[in-house]
Order: sequence, then C-alpha cells, then structure tokens
Amino acid sequence: MTLSIADNVSLREYNTLAVPASARYLVRISSDPQVPEALAFAQQRGLPVMVLGQGSNVVFSGDYNGVVLLMQTSGISVSAAGEQALVDVAAGENWHQLVCWSLQQGYAGIENLALIPGTVGAAPIQNIGAYGVELCSVLDSVYGWHSDSAAWQRLSSAECQLGYRDSIFKHALKDRFVITSVRLRLTTTSQSNTQYETLSRYLQEQGIANPGPVQVAEAVMAIRRSRLPDPDTLANAGSFFKNPVVPASHYRTLLSQYPDLVSYPLADGTFKLAAGWLLERAGWKGRQLGGCGFHAQQALVLVNPGGASGADVMALAETVKNDISQMFGITLEIEPRVY
Ligand code: FAD
Ligand code: NAP
Repeated sequence: MTLSIADNVSLREYNTLAVPASARYLVRISSDPQVPEALAFAQQRGLPVMVLGQGSNVVFSGDYNGVVLLMQTSGISVSAAGEQALVDVAAGENWHQLVCWSLQQGYAGIENLALIPGTVGAAPIQNIGAYGVELCSVLDSVYGWHSDSAAWQRLSSAECQLGYRDSIFKHALKDRFVITSVRLRLTTTSQSNTQYETLSRYLQEQGIANPGPVQVAEAVMAIRRSRLPDPDTLANAGSFFKNPVVPASHYRTLLSQYPDLVSYPLADGTFKLAAGWLLERAGWKGRQLGGCGFHAQQALVLVNPGGASGADVMALAETVKNDISQMFGITLEIEPRVY
C-alpha cells in the first residue's frame, strides 16, 4: 500500500485553535494497514509520531519535528441488532455525525454528547463527556495498533481505564496505541439522562416532559450553540482547563471566602470546582492577552481571535495559572494535549 506523505505541512487548518505550526511530515491515514506502515516510516527516520484527529483538543506550542498521522478512515458497521446494538466505527469518522447517524437509526446512548467536535478515535482519549454523560457509559472496546508489541489489539472498556477526562491513553499507553476503531454499545430502549441542571432546566422551559433521544440531542445542541463558540467562526480549543478537584477542607476555606463558589460534591468526599467560575472570578472572562483570551460567554473556553501563536497561548495559560494559584491556592491543569 502506498502512503500519502507530505513534508513541511502547515498545521493551522488541522487545529481548531488555528495556531500556526508546521509538521515535518504529514501522513493521511485512510485505511488501517497504513498505521504500522506510517509508524515504520517514522522509525526509519528516527522521528517521533503524533496521531491527529480534528485537532480540537491540542495546542501546538511550536513546529512539530516528526510525523503526524492524520486519521481519516471511515466506516460504520452494526454487528448485532435488536434492542442492543454493537456499533463499530472507524477512528476518522466525525463524532457529531456519528451521534446524528445513531439517532437516525433509533439508537440511544450518545445523544447528550451531540456537537462535541473531533473524531471518533479521539473520543476515548479523554473519555469525552458533556451534560451528565461520558463515553464510558457506552464504550464496549477499542481496536488499534499497539506499538510496543507491534500488533493489533482489542482493549475492553475496563482496560481503557476511563476516568474524568482521562484514560490509559494519557498514561501507560500514551503515544503507544493508535486507535483505529471504537465499538459502542447502543440501545433502542435506554432512558434519557436529563439530570444535568442546564439540560433539565432547558427542557422544562420548552415544556418537554419526557424527552426521547432526539429531543435531548436537540436541546444539547441548542444550549451549546447559545454558549459555546463554533471553531469554524471563532478559533478555540473548548474548555482549556480541567475542573479542579479539592479536598473538603480546602473547599470549606474557599467557601468561607467566596460564598458563591460553584462546586459539586463527589462521592469520595472531595469537591469538583467549576474552573470557569474561578476564571470569571479572577477577571478572565472576555479578557485577552497577546491575541488570545477567554470567551465572553464561557470563561473556560480559550479563544484565538487575534491569530495568536502557540507560544502566546501558553504564555496566557501560565499567567492565568499563576493568578488562580495566588487567589485560590489551586493549580489548574491544561485539558488539551500540548505539543
Ligand atoms: P485531536 O485534538 O486531534 O487529538 C486529541 C488527542 O487525542 C491527541 O493527543 C491525539 O494524539 C489523540 N488522538 C486522536 N486520535 C487518536 C487515535 N485515533 N488514536 C490515538 N490517539 C488519538 N471534550 C469533551 O470531553 N466534552 C465536550 O463537551 C467538549 N466540547 C468541546 C467544544 C469545543 C468547541 C472544542 C473545540 C472542543 C471540545 N471538547 C470537548 C474537546 C474535544 O472536542 C475532544 O477532546 C475530542 O474528542 C477531540 O477530538 P479530535 O479528533 O479533535 O482530537
Ligand atoms: P456548565 O453547564 O456551565 O457547567 C459548568 C461546569 O460545572 C461544568 O464544567 C460541569 O462539569 C460542572 N457541572 C454542572 N452541573 C454539574 C453537575 N450536576 N454535576 C457535576 N458537575 C456539574 O458548563 P458548560 O461550559 O456550558 O458545558 C456544558 C457541558 O459541556 C459540560 O458537561 C462540559 O464539560 C461540556 N463541555 C466540555 C468542553 C471541553 O472542551 N471539555 C467544552 C465545552 C463544553 P463537567 O465538565 O464535568 O460536566
């Protein structure tokens, strides 16, 4: 099989933050066997490899002196029908298109995850989640190429070690496993999950009492469109920081200083704080520095209206992290992967 290899390629159109950067080589992956071939190409030249989907969760802090594998495979197949469906989806498929397809088939399970940008193959990397649902609730397994053993492998959902915006692919299997397809367990019978406050409030306002999956997806899309910038019109990388989790003692101290602190108690007695609230309180909502800044409607979303570079973005992130640390004693963690 012949690889489609280009050299010195601009990555600006391949990252939703639209920062300028270039890749030494870019290989378009349109079929699974091209993955080990592309890895061999990189190994022969002693170059590192980056797997890229639609670049909606990455920051290029500079040029990438390595080989970028751009995942562009396609295909959806249903291997078991009835009330339960096992759906195999190629890594290069668009996530939101998959949600739309699943609704057309009458399946439920991923409707709360409508309009999340990116590819299907990237979804397990941070166990994508929104409006009270995470990928882990429907993930059966992933299939892909394990570089260490130079073999194809299927990993069960449990083996993926999915957590809050986390998985084994950010730890033990970081840069060692290329996901080529994702298997989901969808259903025609599941109950809608509308516990998430913003979602339940919206449905109530619309007078929708028992929403089906299509209505949930439509509600999620309407809420997202009203709050979040579309990367096609305003370059951004979604939520830039993870919501920090603090011990109860730290939470109580903060609450005494900031009675309007937005927080969510977790089962283990710790508290998840809304990073967006922390940024807003620190004065970052709608504020810019060096061409980039934080969105006026949602302080957690880093936007790049001024054509900032990756270095500018990282400089802003450092300034904000220092501010938050000084004000709240919290070290924010960047959510997208920085290259
Ligand atoms: P990329 O950004 O291309 O890659 C992200 C990481 O995954 C990289 O480290 C890359 O190497 C790795 N990767 C990608 N594909 C593969 C593969 N096939 N095999 C191995 N590694 C791979 N996230 C949420 O969880 N919830 C949200 O609600 C949400 N909303 C967003 C809204 C906006 C406006 C934006 C810009 C982002 C949002 N995100 C959200 C983040 C992002 O959409 C997800 O993380 C998405 O899964 C990234 O997909 P991608 O194809 O763009 O991945
Ligand atoms: P929001 O509804 O204003 O809520 C702000 C934060 O509070 C969210 O981060 C959310 O955490 C948390 N939260 C709200 N209700 C909660 C509950 N009942 N229990 C626990 N935590 C709760 O947030 P938003 O910015 O408009 O985003 C809406 C949803 O889309 C969120 O789920 C968010 O994660 C997701 N989203 C993610 C990204 C990204 O890039 N990762 C970008 C845009 C939107 P969670 O994040 O844990 O849900």
